[in-house]
Amino acid sequence: MRAVGIVPRQRHVAEVRHEHPEIVSPTQIKVRTLDVGICGTDREICTFVYGEPPANSEYLILGHEALGIVVDVAAEVTQIKIGDLVVPSVRRPCADPNCRPCRMDRQDFCATWKFNERGIHQHHGFMTEFFVDDEKNFIFVPPELRYRAVLAEPLTIAEKGLSQVWSIQSRLPWACDQPGKPKGDGLRAVVIGAGPIGILGAMVCVLNGFDTYVYSRSPKPNEKSEIIESFGATYVSTADTSPAELADRVGSIDLVYEAVGVSKTSFEVMMHLGINGIFVFTGIPAPEGNLSLAGNQLMRNIVLKNQVIVGTVNADKASFCDAIRDLGEFHRRWPQALERIISARYPVEKFQELLTGKMTGIKNVIAFSE
Ligand SMILES: [Zn+2]
Ligand SMILES: [Zn+2]
Repeated sequence: MRAVGIVPRQRHVAEVRHEHPEIVSPTQIKVRTLDVGICGTDREICTFVYGEPPANSEYLILGHEALGIVVDVAAEVTQIKIGDLVVPSVRRPCADPNCRPCRMDRQDFCATWKFNERGIHQHHGFMTEFFVDDEKNFIFVPPELRYRAVLAEPLTIAEKGLSQVWSIQSRLPWACDQPGKPKGDGLRAVVIGAGPIGILGAMVCVLNGFDTYVYSRSPKPNEKSEIIESFGATYVSTADTSPAELADRVGSIDLVYEAVGVSKTSFEVMMHLGINGIFVFTGIPAPEGNLSLAGNQLMRNIVLKNQVIVGTVNADKASFCDAIRDLGEFHRRWPQALERIISARYPVEKFQELLTGKMTGIKNVIAFSE
């Protein structure tokens, strides 16, 4: 069976021959891969900074953003049927019986850090013709999202982030859940970064009623600014607007959703977070490098303005379900914007330039089959 992976010992990104997977337990389902999205994580794995094959394998099959169609189900599968479209989740629990998050299917909060992740860490990914996994690791996709659901996994980053925001917001009962209004009604959000995670995050913010600004590098107009403004957010470029000017323009910033992985811009914006504001970090910067910042002023703000700074990684099943629901909503409200996020679909043969060549477009997808 065809698959695309890395062979770390040879520092190769290559097409590998992988054994056709078979169902081996009564709760598993077998899926034929339709689409696999490529993101910065895949491209980083292809520089061999991380990405570890499973034990006993020379290679790691890539791909963690996938959509497939169910071709077989085992005897005890209850919800999913042959012919259904499904999206798989990524992280699998650690084996430690004392890891309470993992034992409660919340491996996104795994306390031992011994989880594995499909296509990233010690578990093969989805850049292959077929894969098998337990039913509970799949989310049903309605047929109308056939050409959009590959965006579900990157959208889960925002969905889990916002679920954290709602938990935190519950400390301010007057600021959430007004009957008949979306939860972000009357609040202002700044999204840092206009990659797929940023654009999808901004869409969720608009959907939830936030007055939403996306702060990103490229001057406008550009492809991303056009998409962003088409669904009702405001695009602001770092090239002509400083974080202080951004804050003046926005007014009090209630939420920052960081989706750029650059600490300097992030902390500069954090300096302007508003009273009772929440700052959500989702990006992962390179480990090296130092930043000098006005620490006293920042700490004064955090305390005196009751601010919350929260990091979030990976996503639970509820966030995947929220992502599928919201993709449906985006598809109804902003079909062109959603369509434009997927820059192009490529055949498998193009994997080398997509993974190791110059980055182009917003979200590139490998179409494994029709
Ligand atoms: Zn990704
Ligand atoms: Zn765990």
